[in-house]
Amino acid sequence: MLIKLAKSCGFCFGVKRAIRLAENNPDSIVIGELIHNSREIDRLNRNFGVRSADNLDKLKKGDRAIIRTHGIEKDAKAKLLTIADDIIDATCPYVTKPQKIAEAMSDEGYQTIIFGDGSHPEVKGVLSYADENAAVVADASELDRVTIRDRAALISQTTKSIAAFGEVAAALIAKTSETRVFNTICNATYDNQEATRKLAKEADVMIVIGGKNSSNTKQLHSIALQYCADSYLIEDGDELRREWFANKRLCGVSAGASTPDWIIEEATKAIEAF
Ligand code: SF4
Repeated sequence: MLIKLAKSCGFCFGVKRAIRLAENNPDSIVIGELIHNSREIDRLNRNFGVRSADNLDKLKKGDRAIIRTHGIEKDAKAKLLTIADDIIDATCPYVTKPQKIAEAMSDEGYQTIIFGDGSHPEVKGVLSYADENAAVVADASELDRVTIRDRAALISQTTKSIAAFGEVAAALIAKTSETRVFNTICNATYDNQEATRKLAKEADVMIVIGGKNSSNTKQLHSIALQYCADSYLIEDGDELRREWFANKRLCGVSAGASTPDWIIEEATKAIEAF
């Protein structure tokens, strides 16, 4: 069986930047999870003493805080400024962009509509920069349950697919007299999705490696499933099963934007061993 790695997969620029910042600032406290990969978070904790705090009350004066890759809510950031002595902002620039757009569009009187998962930290953060008329929709049909105003601004969670974003944009345009559409899907996500799509079309079995709570990894898995019914999402090589590879000719491997190279290599070696 041949094993082929997707042309574009694994760590993106935003995650690399966040990890570099964490490694350069040992013993800091991250607000939430720095990235959606528990094994990499464990490594940062073990080797650099970087810890996570799930809420700001766990911080005390003098602490050094890191804002996670997906950003935090506007109020939380303001509060953090009053607690921590030193703040390292690891918010990915691709996430800062929709935050700024949401704020500017609200100021200009547009209703901000965010296409994304309302429970995701990135989306909650972006929503906090918009005014009270803003809404989050998971797909085009959800626009029907929102009171849409005459002028709207549409932005997307960074990890969504362009095709699905286009559907929401078309439905929103039909409901307003003016819709401003901002493509806030990040390039890394787009490149990883396209490479996974291409590989899944030719593979007999697809392995997508990444955190099970990572939106972009789940997205890659669902794209892989569209083209290759035998597609599996794993966090690391320990979850692989020998029977997945029986009588397969080509195994495609892809990985989410917060999956480090060492986990991809480990998993690939485990597949080779089968
Ligand atoms: S996937 Fe995109 S938005 Fe998310 S951290 Fe990476 S570069 Fe930034």
